[in-house]
Amino acid sequence: MSRRNYPSAFMHPFSHIPTLEEEGPVIVDRGEGVYIYDDRGRKYLEGNSGLWNVVLGFDNKKLIETAQRAYAKLPAYHAFFGRVGQAALDLSERVVKLAPMEANRVFYANSGSEANDTVVKLLWFLAEQEGKPHRRLLLSRKNAYHGMTVITASLTGKDYVKSASGLPVKEVRHLTCPHHWREALPKESETDFSQRLALELEQTIRNTGPDYIAGFFAEPVMGAGGVIPPPEGYFQAIQPVLKKYGIPLIADEVICGFGRTGEFWGSQTYGMKPDIVVASKVITAGFFPMGAIILSPEMTERIDKASAKYEELPTGFTTGAHPVGCAIAMAALDEIEGGAFANVKARSPEFQKQLRAMADHPMVGEARGVGLMGALEMVADKKTKAPFAGNLDVSERVSRQALKNGLICRPLGASIVLAPPFIITDAQISELFGILRKTLDEVYRDIAKKAA
Ligand code: PMP
Repeated sequence: MSRRNYPSAFMHPFSHIPTLEEEGPVIVDRGEGVYIYDDRGRKYLEGNSGLWNVVLGFDNKKLIETAQRAYAKLPAYHAFFGRVGQAALDLSERVVKLAPMEANRVFYANSGSEANDTVVKLLWFLAEQEGKPHRRLLLSRKNAYHGMTVITASLTGKDYVKSASGLPVKEVRHLTCPHHWREALPKESETDFSQRLALELEQTIRNTGPDYIAGFFAEPVMGAGGVIPPPEGYFQAIQPVLKKYGIPLIADEVICGFGRTGEFWGSQTYGMKPDIVVASKVITAGFFPMGAIILSPEMTERIDKASAKYEELPTGFTTGAHPVGCAIAMAALDEIEGGAFANVKARSPEFQKQLRAMADHPMVGEARGVGLMGALEMVADKKTKAPFAGNLDVSERVSRQALKNGLICRPLGASIVLAPPFIITDAQISELFGILRKTLDEVYRDIAKKAA
């Protein structure tokens, strides 16, 4: 048995079992600013903001005090049957004003998965009520991440997630991943690649019949797929096709929303005009589970009309629009609008400069990113872009070695991804990349030694 008593009664989500068996879990004890500490007092720079969400630091006093006050006043209530806390009303007014498109309604779930899942349900609800029960197909992209419920794991375009449980469900189609560096034809420009993907979309729509398609889901920047910003002109090419066939665009802003890309929304960074926006993670800075669906007036009107028959919206979650969660979200937005977003804008050039400087490392094939998010894709051969054999291993090794060196960075496929808290300083950015370079050197030396 390991010194950390593994296996334990706790079932670890998305955790590498051999590592757990060998080393046991990292028991996270407390946090301070952009750092977390384990139960042995070891300090780590959190290069991923937890899971992209803890953007205001791990000890944000304003959020903690807000939560304490909200718990003291009304620690719990639901939002069914016309009952609701004031914070949910205030938050909704604020969110529709902030939205990247004209918007007038917000529905609350408890996670990104639940929010995306509910979007599908609402689209299918509309299909049924508008006399088009066959309008059920959902378009997504390979490498997308939209969640882990049955439907949202189906929308998620990662092969191992799909094959592990025999997904996707029959209603989902995955289009080409818009990753120019990996997927473009030789000498194909970014805009030509975007045009080709728009053509693929149009052909897919025509082949299946536009009347059968309920919606197109897209993250502005693919996050868990390995931080893949869209190629130039991508959404400009895709959106007219969706418009032409009357297919709603759902912007999954679970990672990008509220500042990550250096604009308030990824939709603004890339010129998206979505019909529905899904937010989560950053909306409470990770301090409370929340997912939010933001609707355009047209979507609202259609859903209202469809609901009229039932005299109520036929969906909802026990803890959706939780009074403490909504109060925390208001405080998080105060913090973001009051300075954290400005810091993302101010720090992004330095972060991107240091990220791209890593491209000179012999193991780094591509350094890519936008705002305060980025990825380094590991290759065995920079010219051919050939991945390392069993490529997950190399990024996994980099991440494990980084942990030993005091940095948390996540392996995703062949890439190492970074998304530090919005409050990071330039000195901490230098610390992050200093540790990462030392780590890459160590792993590279180790691989070279083994190959010799
Ligand atoms: N959409 C995107 C873009 C995500 O990155 C995630 C989570 N990484 C989700 C949806 C699912 O969110 P959750 O884990 O809260 O269900």
